[in-house]
Amino acid sequence: MKTGQINVQTENIFPIIKKFLYSDHEIFLRELVSNAVDASQKLKVLSGNGEFKGELGELRVDVLLDKEAKTLTIRDRGIGMSEEEIDKYINQIAFSGAEEFVQKYKGKEGSESIIGHFGLGFYSAFMVAEKVQIRSLSRNEGAKAVQWESNGSPEYTITEIEKDDRGTDIVLFINEESAEFLEKSRIQEILNKYCKFLPVPVFFGTKTEYIDSPDGEKDENGKVKRVATEVPNQVNNPGPAWTKAPVDLKDEDYKSFYRELYPMTFEDPLFHIHLNVDYPFNLTGILYFPKIKEHVEVQRNKINLYCNQVFITDSVEEIVPEFLTLLHGVIDSPDIPLNVSRSYLQSDGNVKKISSHITKKVADKLAEMFKKDRADFEGKWNDLKIFVQYGMLSEDKFAEKAKKFSLLQNTENKYFTLEEYREQIKALQTDKDEKQVILYTNDPEGQYAFVKAAKERGYDVLVLDGPLATHWISKMEQSEEKLSFARVDSDSLDKLIQKDEEIPSKLSKEEEEKLKPLFESSVAADKFRVEFESMSEAEAPILITQPEFMRRMKEQQQFGGFGAFPESYQLVVNSNHPKIGDLLKEKTKKKQTQKVKQLTDLALLSQGMLKGEALNEFIERNIELV
Ligand code: ADP
Repeated sequence: MKTGQINVQTENIFPIIKKFLYSDHEIFLRELVSNAVDASQKLKVLSGNGEFKGELGELRVDVLLDKEAKTLTIRDRGIGMSEEEIDKYINQIAFSGAEEFVQKYKGKEGSESIIGHFGLGFYSAFMVAEKVQIRSLSRNEGAKAVQWESNGSPEYTITEIEKDDRGTDIVLFINEESAEFLEKSRIQEILNKYCKFLPVPVFFGTKTEYIDSPDGEKDENGKVKRVATEVPNQVNNPGPAWTKAPVDLKDEDYKSFYRELYPMTFEDPLFHIHLNVDYPFNLTGILYFPKIKEHVEVQRNKINLYCNQVFITDSVEEIVPEFLTLLHGVIDSPDIPLNVSRSYLQSDGNVKKISSHITKKVADKLAEMFKKDRADFEGKWNDLKIFVQYGMLSEDKFAEKAKKFSLLQNTENKYFTLEEYREQIKALQTDKDEKQVILYTNDPEGQYAFVKAAKERGYDVLVLDGPLATHWISKMEQSEEKLSFARVDSDSLDKLIQKDEEIPSKLSKEEEEKLKPLFESSVAADKFRVEFESMSEAEAPILITQPEFMRRMKEQQQFGGFGAFPESYQLVVNSNHPKIGDLLKEKTKKKQTQKVKQLTDLALLSQGMLKGEALNEFIERNIELV
């Protein structure tokens, strides 16, 4: 037997490691199983290049729980370690790596958050174990099996032991505070989280499976009985879809992988993108487009980040632009630095490249789908809309590409790109300043009268709704030449699209001044502003409009979570409508007032704005008339 000092300055490193890793103790298992997988993979490589000449046999990792002995063992059949190798890799390098980590982050603000990313490797075992043994038999012919043991002080012992099978057992003697890691369900849970797609089969315990009775026993219907049998429980799928070549996968394979990733999700994704980059960085993965409904938040944080098939995290905000966090799926890259703080990650060159590459891929995929099968793309548009608009609002590069496939839908359910649409409305919806005006509604039912009036003039009306519409519209107005958007109910059509020819008013200024107070007193003074406008006779006598600018301010404030912005409307009186001219002919002021009230009430009613007492009064008044 030999004793030695682990090569480290810090008197006792473990209290510090424990403190740092406090919130994330469970990652010890990820680290140890990953090491076991690495050891197996390395042996495969050595065998491949002829350096290892023995039998590979079945390369597998076993996680073994012994509740009574309070031990958890991670066993592999990989390269193993000789005494010299243990000295080199465990006593010197690994420990100094751990110390470097502690030196770097001791007492730093926010250091807890980086823990999950920092593979402390082998030494993370001491977070949960009071004693750790490495029992290893090297791959080399004639090697002697050795056992390294340490209780977490910088002292260790190495002894020769009997061990027949090649490879390494890491035996953890679980400490008292960590008793949870002696529970089968807890270990299963951690393996599920981190080890689901490791490239070497990982086994933990057994599971029950139902198979045909081996001795052919039949049930009352003459069918072979199904019997319960215990089979080894393989934790992982070593060949997940993203590691395969796209040509080898069918649509159904992608769908079933989606279900494997999200067993609790029942809806199929809309489509997927298979990422496969090897220059200037390595990245593979599959991104899925879920059907995004209004509830954007619930769908977030479903992209899992892997590093060589080891699960790292499901919060990828630093790696992909925010709008892409709406996507689901897997990104696997050995080139994302995991052992650094999050703020550093954002400024890392590789991460930036990865981020812009993914954005580009996503835009290209959408463009390709649009080109290949437009009808199909249009069918999916409703589910894509929020995603695309969000992307256009947050990433200029994406916006540039998305212009070609971002769609506009009109009230007749026809779809256009912005360019197509501008061409379509050019003739009629260009105003006297050569500006094109896009008319839209966010509520075709509620704004029915306005939509109808616009269509009767030969104008087209788009449906632009959803939580991002107002922002998206502003963005288009800023980036497009000579284009503006106006909601159909924001003004009279003449004002919305001002043409050269002025319609002369049938009322004189004095006549308008005479009538104005009557209208003003027919509605709430703080909400409405009364204006006269010389529209065509065919327009309604009164329009209730909500000025575009004010309304957008209000909507944007609401979106930003600010309180109520005062409601304000315009009551636009059509001075050319015969019914308005008739008012002047009324003999009594009372008659005039009654008629004005009737006209404004009708206008309010058509907007669904006549409510409560006012509505009741209106109905009673009209019943009188019958
Ligand atoms: P890392 O894995 O990041 O290099 P670790 O502390 O986890 O750091 O491990 C240090 C080294 O110990 C590894 O690089 C490897 O050479 C060796 N090692 C750890 N576990 C095993 C194992 N199960 N089989 C063989 N070698 C191992």
